[in-house]
Amino acid sequence: MKYATVTDLMEMLDRSPVNFLATQYVTERLLAAGFTELDSALPYPQLEAGQGYFVRKNGSALFAFRKGRAPLAEAGFRLVTAHSDSPCFRIKPAPEMKGEGGCIRLNTELYGGAILYTWFDRPLSLAGRVILRGEHALRPQTRLLHIKRPLLVIPHLAIHFNRGVNEGNPLSKQNDMLPVLGFLKEELEHNGLLLRIVAEELGVDQQEILDFDLYLYDTTPACLVGWHEEFIQSGRLDDLSMVHAGLTALLQAEGAEATQVLGVFDNEETGSGTKQGAHSPVLRHVLERVALSDGSDREGFYRALEQSFLVSADNAHGLHPNYVSKQDPTNHPLLGGGPVIKYNANQKYATDAESAAVFAEVCREAGVPCQYFVNHSDVAGGSTLGNILTAQLPLRGVDMGNAIWAMHSVRETGAAIDQDYTTRAFTTFYQLP
Ligand code: ZN
Repeated sequence: MKYATVTDLMEMLDRSPVNFLATQYVTERLLAAGFTELDSALPYPQLEAGQGYFVRKNGSALFAFRKGRAPLAEAGFRLVTAHSDSPCFRIKPAPEMKGEGGCIRLNTELYGGAILYTWFDRPLSLAGRVILRGEHALRPQTRLLHIKRPLLVIPHLAIHFNRGVNEGNPLSKQNDMLPVLGFLKEELEHNGLLLRIVAEELGVDQQEILDFDLYLYDTTPACLVGWHEEFIQSGRLDDLSMVHAGLTALLQAEGAEATQVLGVFDNEETGSGTKQGAHSPVLRHVLERVALSDGSDREGFYRALEQSFLVSADNAHGLHPNYVSKQDPTNHPLLGGGPVIKYNANQKYATDAESAAVFAEVCREAGVPCQYFVNHSDVAGGSTLGNILTAQLPLRGVDMGNAIWAMHSVRETGAAIDQDYTTRAFTTFYQLP
């Protein structure tokens, strides 16, 4: 069974190997739909009801909204948030390492909590942004880079050299995970080789390159898996599947009384503590400016917040058929069972009974099932955006996501139908009077 939302998601995943390119993808979709990009350094223009606008931060976070028909103080904001980043490896400065046997490797640093051994023996390449000299030292230029051909591989050690590999295999991030770029020709000076490759790819002079944020990614495209093609498998389902659901819902929702907001944050995987992350006031500033340019005063903005609701969308752990005992005994979110509402007694999630009830009602109105996740009480869970955001904005809100397997593997697996369910739930959420 093929769903249009899933075919579209697969295209997004293939075009979005890293945070910067995911944000670029969302930007292009918004512009094509008639949204206007605002420059945060300039005053916001007069915002028109029913019109769409967005701002970007750092090229890796994005906040889009469609202005509501009713005054903000009366109708508030309807927010869906997700994140653009996923665990991966960042290329270190001066990365070239001459190896034994004439191989050249790149030095890397782990970003976020990846399952390391899923990165072995894959056709990897490079993506991210490259900073070029500008006319002013404070204003360099940025170019995005997405090398599509496989360029690197992290080869695993043969089992004959480690017979115990299947009984547990501790890995050194510094020594075991370095990708091989190729053979080093004798006459070739290996320093600056990466910059030469990047300069060639971008068609710029190597001397113009000041710095880069480049990451490894798996070039294997997203695909459907299963007897009935019931699963979607790809890198970065966490959390681009939720970015896609939020984006699709925002684009297809009709204008409403409330102002509809999509927030895509960066750096969730490392604790959100950057200017483009959920710990910063970046979203609060956007909402405040929307309210002020709407003619509200601070009082009006605070009233708008009281009328608002947040859906913090990040993937959840589906019941894994090989590891049933890892899950809570009575709450088993299933792949294909619809959006998952996440609870945590110690409030690692923003959800409480009232906000969970609201979201369950939204699902009911959308005609989609929903389910619940709580940790097995002896297993510590992860955290996400909701509770971090509410430190900046005291919003009613729920943490939810689609159930997936192998979270933070280089290839994660989800259910195709869940993408459809969640997109429908978000669309209903945006449009509810
Ligand atoms: Zn996530």
